[in-house]
Amino acid sequence: MKDVHLKRAAIAVAVIVALMISGACLFGAKPYEELHNDTYSVINESAESTEDETDLIKEQVGEMCFESLCQHVWVNGQCSKCFVMCEHAHHNAKARECFVCGKVIPHELTNGQCNKCGYQVRMISNSLPEKYFEPCPEKGKVLTLNYKASKPEEDNEIIHTAKIYLPHGYDEYDKETKYNLVFVIHGGDGDESTMMDQVHWVSGKRINFRQLYDWIIYDGCCDKFIAVTVNTNQTVTKDFNQETGKREYGAEIRNILLPILAEQYNTYAESGEVESLRAARQHIGMVGGSNGSLYTMQAGLITNLDVMGNFGFVSGITDKTGAIEKLGNPESEKYPIYSFYGAAGLTDHLLGNTRSGYNEIVGECEQLVKNENAFYTDVNAGHDWTLFTVGMYNFMLVMGQDIEA
Ligand SMILES: [Zn+2]
Ligand SMILES: [Zn+2]
Ligand SMILES: [Zn+2]
Repeated sequence: MKDVHLKRAAIAVAVIVALMISGACLFGAKPYEELHNDTYSVINESAESTEDETDLIKEQVGEMCFESLCQHVWVNGQCSKCFVMCEHAHHNAKARECFVCGKVIPHELTNGQCNKCGYQVRMISNSLPEKYFEPCPEKGKVLTLNYKASKPEEDNEIIHTAKIYLPHGYDEYDKETKYNLVFVIHGGDGDESTMMDQVHWVSGKRINFRQLYDWIIYDGCCDKFIAVTVNTNQTVTKDFNQETGKREYGAEIRNILLPILAEQYNTYAESGEVESLRAARQHIGMVGGSNGSLYTMQAGLITNLDVMGNFGFVSGITDKTGAIEKLGNPESEKYPIYSFYGAAGLTDHLLGNTRSGYNEIVGECEQLVKNENAFYTDVNAGHDWTLFTVGMYNFMLVMGQDIEA
């Protein structure tokens, strides 16, 4: 009895693999425009395949095999009858649903283009989608982390606070599933709640960042991420243009916070050791708004390029010279940038500063290529929460993407 089952399962798996390969070929052969056609039918049990498709598949795998195929019932990317996993080789560009199992699969970007559907990254320049202002059906959770910010040899223990967003379905015991790690840095007035729980008003509608994180992940806009918000004002007296304090804060992130997060959570880093962080840097990044954008430059790119590969500047790019020097340094060749993102509001007092800063840095640095690993958006906003939420959204679209040299 068991043998028969095993044989059947083996045959089913073999046939399914053959079918998936042939299916992939069928999809692969589709021209770009057809893949973008929303009317394209999803092949699963609930969808009726057309005569043509059935005949084509029969031709490819043979009548006999076809008849004995498992009629997959897909649940979350796996068949609940034969347990085969869907490979999600292709998905619909708009809804990001896998053509085979129907699951929402994030775009898999290389240089801003999706390998699964051909979609080229298009960032939004107006307000977030309407539904983002309502609670998301799948909510992540937020933890508070109190950490010792002082070095062990110092007598006075200084405790700082950060907040950690873990997406819906995060399972601490599931070490196979890795998450991108992004530091989200608040502006001049703010703390660890600003880009997490604190409610902001956008054109008369309420939103907070954790809800934005929920939706971006729920919609499959990007790979799943852990967002960490900090309180820079705990360390540095407000220094809107000063570099030293911000760089010192970069050291706190590098030496204290990053190792704790890498050890405690399922990031791409195997451990908190600097070599592990370096190996995981494609999946570690920082994005900040306003004064937080200046932190992205000093505490991110300039101090921590070797352990982070993604940087988002939402309104405010200072110290272009420092950035160009850092990226032009031969040492930095080992550390490519996966995403370099800039944004400002059209009526933002920092529009000129951000635009010209972005253009100058990208123009000077060979490794930054527009629309491949460097992206910029003018947002229909001021220096306000429309801008900061949209900037965060756009940055997450490309954070952690693959790049081809
Ligand atoms: Zn099945
Ligand atoms: Zn699938
Ligand atoms: Zn795609």
